Amino acid sequence: MQHKEETLNRVTLRTSIARKGATLAGQLFPGARFTMPPDDGAVYLTFDDGPHPESTPRLLELLAKHEAKATFFCLGQNVEKYPGLYEQIIAAGHSTGNHSWSHPNGWRTTTRNYLADVDRAAGVIDTNLFRPPYGRLTPGQYQKLKKRYNIIMWTRLFPDYHPGFNPATTNHAGIRPGDILVMHDTPGTVDKAHMLTEKIQNTTRQQYVFSEIPSFQMLQ
Ligand SMILES: [Zn+2]
Repeated sequence: MQHKEETLNRVTLRTSIARKGATLAGQLFPGARFTMPPDDGAVYLTFDDGPHPESTPRLLELLAKHEAKATFFCLGQNVEKYPGLYEQIIAAGHSTGNHSWSHPNGWRTTTRNYLADVDRAAGVIDTNLFRPPYGRLTPGQYQKLKKRYNIIMWTRLFPDYHPGFNPATTNHAGIRPGDILVMHDTPGTVDKAHMLTEKIQNTTRQQYVFSEIPSFQMLQ
């Protein structure tokens, strides 16, 4: 019992640190979204960095099985390579977001080059959603992009790309309506993202609806 309570406290603490981090970042980027309005009782799964033939079909199949919708933040260079996969995402009723063309780090890229990279991706990804790679934007980049995009950050990121990340022991307790969750749609992460998504679906789909973030309206 003692042990269980300690575990619970630790989980609550971790979630509260994540929420505090989001609040801090929210002060830097006041129009960016770290959560969605909770009123719909929906949770928002998002998958970054795809599409890719080794991962996207598996995620689409899993989402279809659970009748869940999600948002895929795609890289323009991957959409160019795999346009058929991009169309499958849309045809399955999911939404897509612009995640840049080549995944630049905003802190190390001039605003001009950064915007050119995002514009190039906009040529193949039709959406009003943008998520900066690594969550990194300079204030200048942010000011320009927020005029054209809903900047979608996240409530909680699952580091499926990290070798030590184990979906079996990852505690996903504390998910609440309006939360935006991040995983990845790449060959190296799909096993873990698949396992974790399955786990989240099996434990929370009775409680919550899993919806896509609307991609053709300005949210603010
Ligand atoms: Zn990314």
